[in-house]
Amino acid sequence: MGTERWFACELHCHTVHSDGDFTVPGLLEAARTRRLDGIALTDHNTFSGYLQAQNSLSPVVLGGMEWTTYFGHMLVLDCKRYVDWRDALPDTIDEKMRQVHESGGLCGVAHPFQLGTPICTGGHWDYRVRDWSLVNYLEIWSEGAPYLNTSNRRAIRLWASLLDRGYRIAPTFGRDWHRTRGNPLPSACTYLYCPAPLTPDGMKQALRRGRTVVSAGPLFTVETADGKTSGDCIPAVHTEFRFRTDTTRLCALQTENTFVPREIRLYTNGLQEILRLPVSGEAQTAQIPLNAAQWYCATLWGETDGKANTLLAVCSPLYTQPHSNHKER
Ligand SMILES: [Zn+2]
Ligand SMILES: [Zn+2]
Repeated sequence: MGTERWFACELHCHTVHSDGDFTVPGLLEAARTRRLDGIALTDHNTFSGYLQAQNSLSPVVLGGMEWTTYFGHMLVLDCKRYVDWRDALPDTIDEKMRQVHESGGLCGVAHPFQLGTPICTGGHWDYRVRDWSLVNYLEIWSEGAPYLNTSNRRAIRLWASLLDRGYRIAPTFGRDWHRTRGNPLPSACTYLYCPAPLTPDGMKQALRRGRTVVSAGPLFTVETADGKTSGDCIPAVHTEFRFRTDTTRLCALQTENTFVPREIRLYTNGLQEILRLPVSGEAQTAQIPLNAAQWYCATLWGETDGKANTLLAVCSPLYTQPHSNHKER
């Protein structure tokens, strides 16, 4: 296994195999142009495009499908056996997700607060999940201009409330990429922490372990002195957090925008802010007295596109022990 590093990925893509305009080679080319290291192919209710994409090395492709139903859209990745999505109902979704996990797959909630339209019914998440430990990841940002979209603020609040209840769910961005034309700038990406070189399985394990950073472009990361990072569990003691802000790692799509990182803010349970640190250089540290059974989420704020005080990046949390609601799977 190689050394781990952060890879820029787009985890929500469509092609002509569902309602996208991209052919599969066209999507791969567009991802290469944007210097994305990996993508997840998530056509609506089909994985037929994956045959054309599975051997791609640039970008690396993780196969999946977007369960597109009246009660919500669920992203299912790398499921080794077909699980029938057609009879998924609000009260049976837990059982469906269990079947996905038994078949080796991952479950993600797509755009939970998207407004339905006559064309795209069911974009709003109405499934009654009882056991949120069955959900691996949730799109806290979706579509082209995530930090300008108010439904993303609701998604962040939903995600934080689940963290408060002890669930560990990786935050992701999903562009819901269908075509190049007409997609508003700016966009974003999900960075995944994986062994190099990137592989589909590496992407999958990063999502499973919560090793994600959602970003409008800058690579912003947090780790402890002994190398623990997003998704990891750490002792509830006084700990040094090391923040890195790398504005050189931007997908090509974002280079039209300028980013001026201004502040690092650290949040914990109840979305309580416990640290505000002006950005000064690429690497910074802060001493944080950690409490037990909490989550700690580092975020980056600054200016982009002329707008001040804008959320630029969200790191998946680190968690302190013990965490009673968490179930291993
Ligand atoms: Zn959708
Ligand atoms: Zn979609």
